[in-house]
Amino acid sequence: MKFETLAVHAGQEPDSATGAIMTPIYQTSTFAQSEPTVHKGYDYSRAGNPTRSALEKNLAALEGAKYCAAFSSGMGAIDAVLKLLKGGDHIVAGNDIYGGTYRIFVKVFEQFGLTFDFVDMSNLDNMKKALRPNTRLIWIETPTNPLLRIVDIEEAARIARTARALSVVDNTFATPFLQQPLSLGVDIVVHSATKYIGGHSDVILGAAITNDNSLAEKIFFIQKSSGAVPGPFDCFLALRGTKTLHLRMQRHCENARRIAEFLKSHPKVKHVNYPGFKDHPNYSIASRQMKDFGGMVSFTLKEDNIGAAKRLTTLTKLFTLAESLGGVESLIEHPASMTHASLPRDVRMKSGLEDTLIRLSVGVENAEDLIHDMGHALDAV
Ligand SMILES: *Cc1c(COP(=O)(O)O)cnc(C)c1O
Repeated sequence: MKFETLAVHAGQEPDSATGAIMTPIYQTSTFAQSEPTVHKGYDYSRAGNPTRSALEKNLAALEGAKYCAAFSSGMGAIDAVLKLLKGGDHIVAGNDIYGGTYRIFVKVFEQFGLTFDFVDMSNLDNMKKALRPNTRLIWIETPTNPLLRIVDIEEAARIARTARALSVVDNTFATPFLQQPLSLGVDIVVHSATKYIGGHSDVILGAAITNDNSLAEKIFFIQKSSGAVPGPFDCFLALRGTKTLHLRMQRHCENARRIAEFLKSHPKVKHVNYPGFKDHPNYSIASRQMKDFGGMVSFTLKEDNIGAAKRLTTLTKLFTLAESLGGVESLIEHPASMTHASLPRDVRMKSGLEDTLIRLSVGVENAEDLIHDMGHALDAV
């Protein structure tokens, strides 16, 4: 079956008890047993819950995978994957990964003896140079945030395999509709389903997805043991999101392309980061590994003034000033003072994240309306 059909149907049997078309919210912590060792597949909701199972089957199918473990947040999923490692192991990660991922790596897992190197992975020579004999995991985000660089997933996975390290892709920005890292040789995909998968800015949820039996067994064990599981209602909301993921992503991509082109032609804009431009440095990889170029766009202003950039974020009316991304509504934010404020300025500037950089999560509204809104704001700034 193709993606669109799986989005609607995978893991979605009518309820066996009542015939309900939509997956019921099994809001229960425990399940009656007929004998001490006999139950109908579920005994306690931390270990498993039917609403969660339906979501896990659906997400696994969308990534072309056998296994998915759902978590109470994207960070919960990332935490579980890192717990596959042990003290003394070394990890190579991108140098512009999600701030929360950077934080849990450095502030939590370094305490337990894991060590990290952060490199610009849009050039894989940097990754090769960072490998050590004890490197056990390669952490990839692509497109990156907020500069929208692209990492060659297939090549990165090949290098990781040769080094006997696991490869992990955080596929939050692209979603399985645009790219399927497992089919490119990656071992594990993680998601913040809070973003495009949920798609309506109303749930925090994560997932770890794999085809490998032994990795899956370990991840399910960690899921049950550490206990960062999502509640049944949150699973229901995420399932409601996945059913329209393909429709929303098409519109996100279309609108982002329109906005990116508009910004590129605007006299007050210096540079637009959008992997769908032919002059984007990673355009050829993006075209090869992605179905389309996603809903995220970032840009800098010609007027090199942090105040002007901050002011612009308050002047749009349809683009709401907020962190996060991937919902149906358009959002605008200023990475240097918001999502990426924890990076010291020199580190930020070195990775190309300038003071006037503005990040957009382009929603599914009418593209003309969005362009008007952005045009008015740019005129007024
Ligand atoms: C938001 C996000 C996360 C963290 O997910 P939560 O659901 O907020 O815990 C991880 N990675 C990326 C790329 C994200 O955008």
